[in-house]
Amino acid sequence: MYGGYQSTKQNLDPVYSQIIDYVTKGDGSGKAYKNLATFVDRFGSRKVGTQRLEDAISHLVSELESLGSLKVHTESFSFEGWQRGAESAELVAPLSKRLPMLSLGSSVGTAAASDSADGSIEADCVVVESFNELDRLGKAGISGKIVVYNQLYKGYGVSVQYRTDGASRASKYGAVAALIRSVTPFSIGSPHTGMQEYEPGLPVQIPACCITVEDAELMHRIYKRGDKVRVRLRMSCGSAGVQESRNIVADLEGSEKPQELVVVCGHIDSWDVGQGAMDDGGGAFCAMQSVRTLLEMGLRPRRTIRLVLFSGEEFGILGGNAYYERHKAELADKISFMLESDSGTFGPIGTTCSGSEATRSAYQQVLNLLEPIGATTLVPSTDGPDITVWAKSGVPVGDLLTKRAGQPDDFYFYFHHSEGDMMTVQDPAEMDRCVAAFAVVSLALADAAELLPRGISGASAGEDGLLSDWVLV
Ligand SMILES: [Zn+2]
Repeated sequence: MYGGYQSTKQNLDPVYSQIIDYVTKGDGSGKAYKNLATFVDRFGSRKVGTQRLEDAISHLVSELESLGSLKVHTESFSFEGWQRGAESAELVAPLSKRLPMLSLGSSVGTAAASDSADGSIEADCVVVESFNELDRLGKAGISGKIVVYNQLYKGYGVSVQYRTDGASRASKYGAVAALIRSVTPFSIGSPHTGMQEYEPGLPVQIPACCITVEDAELMHRIYKRGDKVRVRLRMSCGSAGVQESRNIVADLEGSEKPQELVVVCGHIDSWDVGQGAMDDGGGAFCAMQSVRTLLEMGLRPRRTIRLVLFSGEEFGILGGNAYYERHKAELADKISFMLESDSGTFGPIGTTCSGSEATRSAYQQVLNLLEPIGATTLVPSTDGPDITVWAKSGVPVGDLLTKRAGQPDDFYFYFHHSEGDMMTVQDPAEMDRCVAAFAVVSLALADAAELLPRGISGASAGEDGLLSDWVLV
């Protein structure tokens, strides 16, 4: 009910601390880690468009159905697929060295431009550390060359543009391929893949791959000394035609307002390297375990808590966008909040939250319930890759914020999209706290008197002031 401000602490329902205790030190502890390990050790990496991902999805659907209390279904979508093929890169001058590499998603292969029987291309390299430097060299300096980007890591959001745009920008100056330093703050010789995008209308699409930080720096040093840097590149990746995948939707039905929703989610697909244990096995399994926790504890929410495990996130948020297009008209005014985890399941420190100031002041009351696990930080943002799109319809969305104690904030990117994304990265106690965060936030919002105040990010509280007296009861 609406009312004046009340301290949330004095009215705290003991159920929230019971959930935290159950997951962090009771019968629920260690389950998310154990279930994720069993799953990724069995299915491995799960690139969208592979049978392996579809088998993994079918397996999870059966598992969720076997719990007996959830309404489970899948929702299909189709897309233009891409497949990796045989691939290699080699420094051929001034010395011979194998260059560990991974083709980037959506890249063309080398065969079309090859005059060699094995489909490879070979060319001298130009090594640059910025787009400005590329532009200065222009056509005269770049035509016919392979462009190697050795951009410094300045945070993922900044540096990732070299991965996404590097091939298109080099192609305009006549480059024959682009080798891009992996977007990571730390490396032990591992390439990190990801999507790249060709600009629409680009006359020539050139092959693009990522190489290691160490090799990008090596080639840059040699190049700056004035020595010739020459590379042979073979990539046989390309289109896989029209493919299909499925999002998984599982509802823990509300007892009083089943048509209103709180959504907890992650994405079940991954890149085709490592095990996808972190990105986003951890997020998907913590969200799933939170629903299982409520079932195990016999807690029935007033509103429906919906688990969505999206597919195709890594190839352009395919499942997230399909879900939005399919449900925006029906659900935009019925979803209280959507919480995703797709930036690591280390120790939770809070979540992001979109919407207006009114949204955030209401939501902070919910986050305060996570005080026992130190996860009360609210960062205004429209994050959560699969659900960001809902923010433009006014639905509040958030992404779980986590941090590994003693490590830098971008520890996640040490492993992201690399062979290092294995179960080894995960920690059972950290995952338990993430499960607790999902369970407490979703139950509190499902049981609250009102939906969270709607709001477009940037709007002030005054614009929808009637909602500023939202109170968690
Ligand atoms: Zn992800």
